[in-house]
Amino acid sequence: MSIETRNLSKAYKGVQALTDFSMTLTPGILGLLGPNGAGKSTLMRMLATITRPTAGTILWNGRDVVKDPEALRSVLGYLPQDFGVYPNLSAQEFLEYMAAIKGMSGAQARREISDLLDLVNLRDAARRPLGGYSGGMRQRVGIAQALLNDPQLLIVDEPTVGLDPEERVRFRNLLSDLGSERIVILSTHIVSDVESTATDIAIIHKGHLKARARPEQLLKQMDGSVWEWMATSEELPALKKRFLVSGTIRRMDGVEVRAVSAERPCPQARPVTPNLEDVYLTMVAQRQGEQA
Ligand code: ADP
Repeated sequence: MSIETRNLSKAYKGVQALTDFSMTLTPGILGLLGPNGAGKSTLMRMLATITRPTAGTILWNGRDVVKDPEALRSVLGYLPQDFGVYPNLSAQEFLEYMAAIKGMSGAQARREISDLLDLVNLRDAARRPLGGYSGGMRQRVGIAQALLNDPQLLIVDEPTVGLDPEERVRFRNLLSDLGSERIVILSTHIVSDVESTATDIAIIHKGHLKARARPEQLLKQMDGSVWEWMATSEELPALKKRFLVSGTIRRMDGVEVRAVSAERPCPQARPVTPNLEDVYLTMVAQRQGEQA
């Protein structure tokens, strides 16, 4: 099972949203990380056969998806970023409706809907109108509809937007169970969404693929380039201009600065273990000084 993009590009009127994007995915969870506007939704909409590429190809198990979208559509689950629900339908009714759209038989639909309502913990609310659901509950309905028909490719676009921290954790746990027998793509601009669940990370910035590796490989690359030291509040603006500061913590005696730098930034700086946030910032952010 594989999905592959080859030199995939997408231009909207005057906007180059994705450029020469090449990537091959096999079962597992890919965390697609990038800031807002990076091109994540554009890529996912093309993989979900909603938008056609301007150039390049998408292959599902070696077959051209753009020419023949049906082979992929029948095994696809997609949770778009702007997932809307019908407020007057209950979760049960909405899922029945989505199952019908996916061409599932009544008996199969009933069985799967019952299982999915348990999986996303909505059994008790299943007969209530979706209009009264919280953001987290709606998102769980979204993931349930995406999982109908047991998709081999599951695409979820910014699924944790609007969730509170507890719902976020629950959502992550749910996803991490799904990646063993299918290809899951989860897009987000929040590093912690994918830190614990993703088996693979792709970093996308301004429509370009900047990195693609297992999390531990990315972290290894940064070994020896992340530092922490104590500074004063007054020094902070200048430090942010000179270094890629990935974190600051106020302490009683000043500010603890965390920064990425190939060289030891100052004598008192001590090397620390890199985290994914350091990697991500290095790939996508610029120092304030460079932006000015
Ligand atoms: P992300 O999902 O990473 O936030 P998008 O794929 O939504 O990024 O957007 C990538 C770029 O393409 C942005 O500059 C965005 O403004 C532009 N864009 C996205 N969709 C459209 C569209 N339908 N028409 C014109 N420009 C678009």
